[in-house]
Amino acid sequence: MILSVAIPIPLNHLFDYLPPDNCNLQQLKAGLRVKVPFGKQTKIAVLIKIKTGDECDISKLKQAEAILDAEPLLSSKDIQLLNWAKYYYHHPIGDVFISAFPTALRKGKSTEPKSSTYFQLTATGKAADDSLLHNAPKQLALLKFLKSQKNTLSNVEIATHFKLWRAPLKALINKDYVRTCNAPGISDQNSLITQQTSLTANAQQLTAIQSITSQLDQFAVYLLEGVTGSGKTEVYLQIIEKVLARNQQVLVLLPEITLTPQLEARFKQRFAVPIETYHSQHSESQRQSAWLAMQKGNSPIMLGTRSALFTPMPKAGLIILDEEHDASFKQQEGFRFSARDVAIVRAKMLNIPIILGSATPSLESLYNVDKKRYQLLRLPHRAGNATPPRLALLDIRNQSLQEGLSPQLIRDIQRTLAKKEQVLLFLNRRGFAPTLICHSCGWVAQCSRCDANLVVHYQQQKLRCHHCACEQALPRQCIACKSEELKPLGLGTERVESALHYLFPEHKSVRLDRDSTQRKGALDQHLAAINQGQVDIILGTQMLAKGHHFPNVTLVVLLDVDSGLFSIDFHAPERLAQLIIQVAGRAGRAEKKGRVIMQTRQPEHPLLNTLILHGYQAFAKAALAERKSAELPPYSYQALLRSTSHEKDSAFEFLLAVAELINSHTSNGTLVLGPVAAPMAKRAGQFRYQLLLQHKKRKQLHLLLNWLMPEILKLKQARKIRWSLDIDPIDL
Ligand code: ADP
Ligand code: ZN
Ligand code: ZN
Repeated sequence: MILSVAIPIPLNHLFDYLPPDNCNLQQLKAGLRVKVPFGKQTKIAVLIKIKTGDECDISKLKQAEAILDAEPLLSSKDIQLLNWAKYYYHHPIGDVFISAFPTALRKGKSTEPKSSTYFQLTATGKAADDSLLHNAPKQLALLKFLKSQKNTLSNVEIATHFKLWRAPLKALINKDYVRTCNAPGISDQNSLITQQTSLTANAQQLTAIQSITSQLDQFAVYLLEGVTGSGKTEVYLQIIEKVLARNQQVLVLLPEITLTPQLEARFKQRFAVPIETYHSQHSESQRQSAWLAMQKGNSPIMLGTRSALFTPMPKAGLIILDEEHDASFKQQEGFRFSARDVAIVRAKMLNIPIILGSATPSLESLYNVDKKRYQLLRLPHRAGNATPPRLALLDIRNQSLQEGLSPQLIRDIQRTLAKKEQVLLFLNRRGFAPTLICHSCGWVAQCSRCDANLVVHYQQQKLRCHHCACEQALPRQCIACKSEELKPLGLGTERVESALHYLFPEHKSVRLDRDSTQRKGALDQHLAAINQGQVDIILGTQMLAKGHHFPNVTLVVLLDVDSGLFSIDFHAPERLAQLIIQVAGRAGRAEKKGRVIMQTRQPEHPLLNTLILHGYQAFAKAALAERKSAELPPYSYQALLRSTSHEKDSAFEFLLAVAELINSHTSNGTLVLGPVAAPMAKRAGQFRYQLLLQHKKRKQLHLLLNWLMPEILKLKQARKIRWSLDIDPIDL
């Protein structure tokens, strides 16, 4: 008997091993983890196939060291999906398979929780009055926590909320307030799925809920389009309830930034079943226990980011992917995949529905609606009483700006503040100014390792590169001419913040960007201050665009939309439109009417005008028409080869060799564009080039790649550089 295993190394084939001594051959099944010797190391591999000895010469085979699991961690469905992903993304099989596991399991950790014990309140504990514990604050806190949870809790879960918990828990057990119990399973939960009744759905919500729940037992893709606040989450919750009633599991995928404690709390308030969360803030052991709870079928709901995509679910019933247009669903390094696209394939293989939600659907998804591949369900109105915000352009040509703020804008902000309402200012550039220039000689501070200017960070008195880790002290004199006339040029959030202090001295402002929220807990503190009305002006970057709700904000300002209008990447207009609508969605979420002002020097720009006058749908239609006439995706399919090297020539020559290889081999109609320097031709000391392949037929492109990839490995130029393949790239 021979074990064919996938090993996480950059070679795209399986490796054969003999089973370890004294292993139960009956137990060997695909999906188990296997520890194998590889060169001088040992690796954790995944068993993919079991072959009989006659298929190859066993005399040269090494023996696997150990089988790590008693039962397969991946089902045949999981293996089928990963095989598809390996095929579609032309990525080494071992890397693809290992990416399905949480880090701890990749390292070979045991799946047996060290001592996972579960606890629940006894009747005495439930009835216990808090005052009985007034001398024991730790016990009281723990008791209150257990009361708020209503489920059984594992020691791992308790440990995530309390640092010192063993002693107080023991004391509560001794008082007979708490007892140990069996691990919760879905079957235990049948009687009680929800603990809070759902809201009464409005007509559009009802249509969406009924369309989907009437066909839960088959594959379909639903695009739920609804502006922020239109009640999409409520729709998800009501559909999930139905899926749970069928004793099935649900995977909810979200961008990292929208997976907030508030959302998690909303799910926990609604459902009485265990809910797992899976994201980068969790420790390795937390992620492992969440993954295993789903894999064993013990938990019915997982809220997770992109990396939760492959979590095994023996009773899968539904996948939801919220903010489906969001670029963070694309993995941009290593195994580059689109979590949205793979999730759809997964739903198809499992024959279950998948819901894509967004206020601003991607052009691809709208195109698929057009092609009748996806069903569009719309929530055109905000739930409750909230009205949609009004959008307007503010022409700032020939205006004298104070740190980016025009006189008219300053008046609008004053008026809003006078009404005791909040203002939100959006500028997608942190730091004080993006450029430091010498007024005497024109010298500009540049990063020595990147094709980029150094950004002025005034508060820290630093110049920083936003593309590599470089930083240096802010110089007093020009490096070239020694003049002291160094001027910061352009606008960053720090600079606007300083202007707010002297323009609106009576009002409190807060800045939310990566610099101001680095300290743990800082973001939560700022958000709490905003929601308690202690802040009048909120200023920030990207971070403001999603997830957070600011009900008292009635004026939203985009300080500079023009910088988004002039990108060479054909995705840029789509992204800008989505960003505008998302930021606009922060305004007037409650009863108060909201306004959105965009400062621009391009007041006639067609993109901006279509968006403002006719809305996102109309914009998307126009943008799709442009893509069609230019034969760009989704009307064609692309693959991007990237190369990097610290030697400029080798990076270029490798892609040149690839281009020649393709041109000598085929004339199947694939467009070969390049090689050209990447938009940022040098980053962190590495020269970067790219070669774009494009075909009108997806199948033809992939046939070419099937042939090309092994050939590339044979190129001698490939050995000197680093290269990668990106299927369906989203940044060019
Ligand atoms: P979205 O996910 O589209 O941003 P939410 O589901 O979060 O929207 O709903 C926005 C707000 O409206 C929430 O405060 C929610 O409680 C409320 N809401 C949603 N649906 C209804 C409804 N049918 N009736 C009353 N309020 C609703
Ligand atoms: Zn100078
Ligand atoms: Zn740099």
